[in-house]
Amino acid sequence: MSKYFSLLLALVSVGAFAQSTNRDALDPKVTEVWDLKPKKITPSANNSDAPSDAIVLFDGKNLSNWASSNGGDAKWEVKDGAMTVVKGTGVIQTKQSFGDIQLHIEWRSPSVIEGEGQGRGNSGIFLQSRYELQVLDSYESVTYSNGQAGSIYKQHIPLVNACRKPGEWQTYDVIYTAPKFGESGRVISPAYITVLHNGVLIQNHVAINGGTQYKGLPIYEPHGKAPITLQDHGNPVSYRNIWVREL
Ligand code: MG
Repeated sequence: MSKYFSLLLALVSVGAFAQSTNRDALDPKVTEVWDLKPKKITPSANNSDAPSDAIVLFDGKNLSNWASSNGGDAKWEVKDGAMTVVKGTGVIQTKQSFGDIQLHIEWRSPSVIEGEGQGRGNSGIFLQSRYELQVLDSYESVTYSNGQAGSIYKQHIPLVNACRKPGEWQTYDVIYTAPKFGESGRVISPAYITVLHNGVLIQNHVAINGGTQYKGLPIYEPHGKAPITLQDHGNPVSYRNIWVREL
């Protein structure tokens, strides 16, 4: 921290100096940072695959990193490299809890179209078990805009509808900053989320207003690290290739 502060001071000094002098006289080394090195990692050849420092939550083989939110094993079906909601088996959650993360997740709404609006291919990704990034077939199905695919449910409408056809795999890449709470549960900083849907920016660092609510306004309740949960909304939505990087 003190190094950043020193650099900031140096920059401020240089800035003030530059107002009244010729930049040619300045030493460029003053504004170079050498001793703080970002950790070197290995990105994947394909940007959808996990880089070297990711935690793989689902690799298509089993649900060993997941549990039922009702307790016990996750009961969703694993087949052909994907996991699929089995109606009535309930929400599943990661065994590990997370705070700030980068998340990659792929999802597919059913190719057999059934239902309409919120009843067509509905599932959802709940960051920290509370804040829903909507999963829905919004390709040619209309619902309230703040509840369509890519919405932060009932809070933020996606910037565009980047949906692929039902039955096709889609990606979400998420950057999530957890909310911060002070003593007595006061919100010091809300949660923030950025989402790319199939590589397209749909949520640009929006502030989350509180825990997702179906009825009424969102509210914050203080919490620490928490699992990622995936919603069983009764539709056979599938997921694959899920990984996170803790930030
Ligand atoms: Mg949902």
